[in-house]
Amino acid sequence: MTTSLGAVRSTFAPWDDPRLEPLVVYDGVTKRYGAEPAVEDLTLKIYEREFFALLGPSGCGKSTLMRLLAGFETPSAGRVLLGGQDLAGVPAHRRPVNMMFQSYALFPHMSVEKNIAFGLAMEQLPKDEIHERVAAMLKLVKLEAYAGRKPHQLSGGQRQRVALARALVKRPKVLLLDEPLGALDRKLREETQFELIALQERLGITFVIVTHDQDEAMTMATRIAVMDKGHVVQVAPPPVIYEAPASRYVAGFIGDINLIEGKVAAVEGGRATIETAIAGRVSVEAAEAVSAGQAVAVAWRPEKTRILRSGEPAPDGWTVIDGVVNDIGYLGDWTTYVIGAGGLRLRAAVANAARLVERPITWGEPVRLAVAADALVLLTR
Ligand code: ADP
Repeated sequence: MTTSLGAVRSTFAPWDDPRLEPLVVYDGVTKRYGAEPAVEDLTLKIYEREFFALLGPSGCGKSTLMRLLAGFETPSAGRVLLGGQDLAGVPAHRRPVNMMFQSYALFPHMSVEKNIAFGLAMEQLPKDEIHERVAAMLKLVKLEAYAGRKPHQLSGGQRQRVALARALVKRPKVLLLDEPLGALDRKLREETQFELIALQERLGITFVIVTHDQDEAMTMATRIAVMDKGHVVQVAPPPVIYEAPASRYVAGFIGDINLIEGKVAAVEGGRATIETAIAGRVSVEAAEAVSAGQAVAVAWRPEKTRILRSGEPAPDGWTVIDGVVNDIGYLGDWTTYVIGAGGLRLRAAVANAARLVERPITWGEPVRLAVAADALVLLTR
């Protein structure tokens, strides 16, 4: 890409530094439970201090990747390395990796303090040291006042923090979080997302999170690996995943997308002209090589779509599609319009910046969708 996408945490990009060694490497890993591979010939590198998200639909192999790193599973082929060391033969409890389970798996009969201390007590560390480390953890997750309570005397958010403290107290190099916020309601989830980011940045521990929630991955991750049927299909920071998806699958999995199919008519100077049925000829930046005659898709996001009244002229160079309003979804902050055009249902999301609109767009109204040239993305897969 010629222009940069998003400034969020832009200074942290160890994956772009060829001098840095990754902390975790999946090197050509295959894992079969039966005949079907859950993960197939997968290579992936995760760097120190990353907040790395594995994202994909249920059954795509996310938990399998985590369990392979934690040591609960062994690869059928390939290697898993941590800090350059092959983990084959290293048992789970000897790996500097800890896992926080979705269910939290707290001991119901133990106090918060005892729950957090459990792993250290198992290692038979001196009592003073255990006390000190548990106290520091209680402070870190702001549960000092709750040390004596049992899990059932805590809220969902507090239980989540106990589980987090229990996983962190052993000072792992990598913390694995399996749907860590799945049990929390929406408001609390959002708050906790920001808390987790702050905590992770402060501790400098590498977090690997499994989630099927795209918003969660977008909010928290330094990079997202999007998975499909045992394969990683794209690894990139959230703004790149969103603005420059590598395929129709990634584009459709993260956020809403409008897609129109077409054929490459010409290629020149890094741009391609695409012949489409409903938008005529469209000029798109071609980040990868395409050739004349190739079937491709042109995609853009609903919030980058402008709705014009029938006959209203579009700005120069914009792509215009005439259609009819099929549906209107009012969400308060946004309104989504579904426009029927040439057998497709295209979406336009419009921010409701004003309280009152003099002549709102209504159902059945003929309208025009207009998209700026730089909002269009060319998809070859
Ligand atoms: P995800 O975490 O993305 O939902 P999983 O890694 O749990 O996916 O599962 C990937 C695939 O492997 C699925 O098809 C699942 O049914 C299968 N699988 C996972 N664990 C086992 C197991 N212990 N035995 C047999 N099949 C399994």
